[in-house]
Amino acid sequence: MSVAKTSIKAKIAKVLSVRHLNDSTFVVRFERGDFQFEPGQYLALGLKGKIQKREYSIYSAREDDFLEILVKEVLDGDVSKRLKTLNPGDELEVQGPFGYFTIDEKKKEKHIYFIASGTGISPCHSLVMSNADLKFTMLHGVRTADERYDMMDYSKGNYVACTSREGTGDFYGRVTDYLNKANIKTDAAYYICGNSNMIYDVFDILKGAGVPQDQIHTEVYF
Ligand SMILES: Cc1cc2nc3c(=O)[nH]c(=O)nc-3n(C[C@H](O)[C@H](O)[C@H](O)COP(=O)(O)OP(=O)(O)OC[C@H]3O[C@@H](n4cnc5c(N)ncnc54)[C@H](O)[C@@H]3O)c2cc1C
Repeated sequence: MSVAKTSIKAKIAKVLSVRHLNDSTFVVRFERGDFQFEPGQYLALGLKGKIQKREYSIYSAREDDFLEILVKEVLDGDVSKRLKTLNPGDELEVQGPFGYFTIDEKKKEKHIYFIASGTGISPCHSLVMSNADLKFTMLHGVRTADERYDMMDYSKGNYVACTSREGTGDFYGRVTDYLNKANIKTDAAYYICGNSNMIYDVFDILKGAGVPQDQIHTEVYF
């Protein structure tokens, strides 16, 4: 696996735009410069001059000449709240890239199942937008339909929204409910990202169905 070289020294990047997707979730676009990364990796990022930094998966594609992150405001949080108030021209301190939630060439031959909760779809979006030939299914666990972030970016039929609080998605229930009813392919590769409870439950379902552990990849957010 080739993973981009990590830089611990923070780079300064100017915010280009903030695109609000609903009341709490937004995409921050900022300068990329010569920054290199492998789709699926994440950054550590904060406002310039502030000590607090948090990890954010890269949302944009490898070929884009900017970087983007998809952020959900955590109401009792710190950094996510500050990011929501950013304006074009504000400056960020960015470190990275970090992480191994990447797809090697051999895995790209398999059907890939992305299973994400909420903003856990972010690295999966980067992977899909960077690999035009990927054969994939995106299983997205959200509470309501307005959390189907940029669903039009996925080709028709490849994106399945599992809505847990209302029946307005493609499946009414959690991703685990969906998987419990599905015919799970043991020769596919699985990329699971989001909150730890979802990841542990999905991992157990996949293992129980006979999916080999080296075909299951995880990225825990909280
Ligand atoms: C590898 C990695 C990648 C990540 N990528 C993203 C990303 O792409 N987009 C993104 O929005 N977040 C991502 N996160 C979470 C992010 O780093 C922060 O934890 C989050 O933004 C909250 O930061 P805060 O300073 O606002 O709140 P804090 O003061 O740090 O945390 C407050 C509380 O909120 C919890 N929390 C964190 N995230 C959530 C959430 N989404 N929903 C509910 N509770 C939460 C924390 O566990 C904590 O208990 C990632 C985390 C990791 C480890």
